[in-house]
Amino acid sequence: MPLLKLNEKLAGDLGKKQEVKVPEHSIKEMAEVLAGLDDTGWGMYAFRHEILERKFTDEQKKAYIAAANSCGREEARKLRLRYPFETAETIARELGFLLRMKSVPTGGGHVIFAEYEEPDKITVYTDAADRGKEVLKIDRIAEAIGNLSVMETLIAHELFHGIEYRNRDEIYTQTERIELWKKPFSNRSRIRCLSEIAAMAFARELLQTQVSPFILDVLLVSSYNSEAASALYEEICDAAGIPIGQNNMDKEDI
Ligand SMILES: [Zn+2]
Repeated sequence: MPLLKLNEKLAGDLGKKQEVKVPEHSIKEMAEVLAGLDDTGWGMYAFRHEILERKFTDEQKKAYIAAANSCGREEARKLRLRYPFETAETIARELGFLLRMKSVPTGGGHVIFAEYEEPDKITVYTDAADRGKEVLKIDRIAEAIGNLSVMETLIAHELFHGIEYRNRDEIYTQTERIELWKKPFSNRSRIRCLSEIAAMAFARELLQTQVSPFILDVLLVSSYNSEAASALYEEICDAAGIPIGQNNMDKEDI
C-alpha cells in the first residue's frame, strides 16, 4: 500500500472548491503545529481515510489507535534487538526485501512517494525524497522537527508493510477484524488504517525520530502543491481537534 499519496478525494475537493480560497499556511507554521501532535491526533487523522470509519465511536478509535501504535513499536523493538545500529535500508536488504529506487512513479494520476508490493518489493521514489529533503531546509524546519531522514522514513514505513505480510497470520494489524454482517455468512473485515498507523509508529521507533513521520504527509505534499498541503494540514488539525486560526489572521492588519 502506498505510504503517501495526494489522494483523489483531496484532489477532487480542491477541484470543487476552486472559488473558495484555501488559506495558505507557511510550511514553517504547519511543521511547528504538527510537530506537537500526539499519536491520538495522528490516528484520528488516519481514521478519516478509513472506509469503515463510521462504524466506530471516538472511544473505539482511540483504543484501536493505541493498539496499532503498540504493534508498530513492538515490531521495531524486535528488529532493533537483531540490528542495533543498521539503517532501515540495510535492515530491509538483510531481511531479503528488494529495494528499488525510481525517480517518479510511472502512470497513475497521483503523487506516490513510496510503495510496497507483496511479497518483497519496496520502491522509493527519489524525486519525492529529494524534494522532501529540500523542504526540510526551508526556514530551518529540520531543526523544529528534529532530524528526519525522508529516505529512511519512507523505507522504514514500507518495510513494516513487508513485515506485516510475512506475519499476516498473527500480527495485530492483519488479524484485528470487524464483523460487517453475520448472516448468511460471516464477513469480517480488516481495518486498513491500523496498518498505516502502525507503519508510522514502527518507522518512528526504528529511527528514533522526534516527531511522528505522519508529518511527511504534509511536508512532501507541500513540495508539489502548497494549496493541497494547506488543505491537508487543515484536515489534520480538524481531525485532531486542534483549532487553527491564530496564524490565519489577516496579515494586512499586522
Ligand atoms: Zn503504508
